[in-house]
Amino acid sequence: MGCGTSKVLPEPTKDVQLDLVKKVEPFSSTKNDVCKHFITEVEHVGPFKAGFPAASQYAHPSPSAPTSGHTEPPSEPPRRARVAKYRAKFDPRVTAKYDIKALIGRGSFSRVVRVEHRATHQPYAIKMIETKYREGREVCESELRVLRRVRHANIIQLVEVFETQERVYMVMELATGGELFDRIIAKGSFTERDATRVLQMVLDGVRYLHALGITHRDLKPENLLYYHPGTDSKIIITDFGLASARKKGDDCLMKTTCGTPEYIAPEVLVRKPYTNSVDMWALGVIAYILLSGTMPFEDDNRTRLYRQILRGKYSYLGEVDLVLKEFGVVGF
Ligand code: ADP
Ligand code: MG
Repeated sequence: MGCGTSKVLPEPTKDVQLDLVKKVEPFSSTKNDVCKHFITEVEHVGPFKAGFPAASQYAHPSPSAPTSGHTEPPSEPPRRARVAKYRAKFDPRVTAKYDIKALIGRGSFSRVVRVEHRATHQPYAIKMIETKYREGREVCESELRVLRRVRHANIIQLVEVFETQERVYMVMELATGGELFDRIIAKGSFTERDATRVLQMVLDGVRYLHALGITHRDLKPENLLYYHPGTDSKIIITDFGLASARKKGDDCLMKTTCGTPEYIAPEVLVRKPYTNSVDMWALGVIAYILLSGTMPFEDDNRTRLYRQILRGKYSYLGEVDLVLKEFGVVGF
């Protein structure tokens, strides 16, 4: 659920108020090799993640239709070869303790693998971040700064960290239920009762973060994981790569422009100093998606997308309205 390059990375604040839309566009005309590298990585994330599918595409998927953003095309090398490839990127200290089982996620700067602790056979997730480039280092520092401070039922738990010159390996608890993103794709939309349950759990985690002076800044269905595959699973907040961590009680406003385009709050777009409430805006977007199965603000063109957000104009189409629209009922 994002347009192409899913994240807008932290961009240092400048005094001049140029065209705001251009300023939040990451890596525009001044792309360097490092940025190209990351953009390429993001574009390979999966068939659905380059854009939110139209409602009719995912409302009632056929059983054989891919429901996961991680489904890979048949031309990919066999699974064993891929696992070997990722294993080779792991420091021997890590592989001595953990057996690498499978690649379960990839993002802008990272690869996430499922592993098994060799002695206890306990499963974990390891997020490997390339820290060769500045962007990777910054994302990694933000993430560790937060994960080292938090302990909450709805926030991913860090177990241990291995660091080398070029990579950092974060061993975390494993969430096996998949992303909220995938469940929205599979279900089309949630009932009010189910949506409330999801939001309640996310809000519990967010309240805890905000009380500690932490703002997530990248809340979206891809970063909300189900702890287990059951329908009664709890939700866990992950991916603190864009988070801002201040001291408890520090009310200092934030200024960095970052986030995922469709979820960015207007105050961030106009480069006003902003507060924790940017997370609440993103939760509003998520609530809309859960209930309607569509995005409140969506456009392949970033300039137009940001304009929609700034206007704050959206219309809500519930399931019944979508069916009416599909049948061409007047009024839509
Ligand atoms: P990025 O910053 O690259 O987006 P994330 O932390 O969001 O990295 O991880 C990418 C994906 O990997 C997630 O969207 C999720 O599907 C998967 N993932 C991350 N952490 C875990 C975990 N602890 N357990 C299971 N899957 C995970
Ligand atoms: Mg992520």
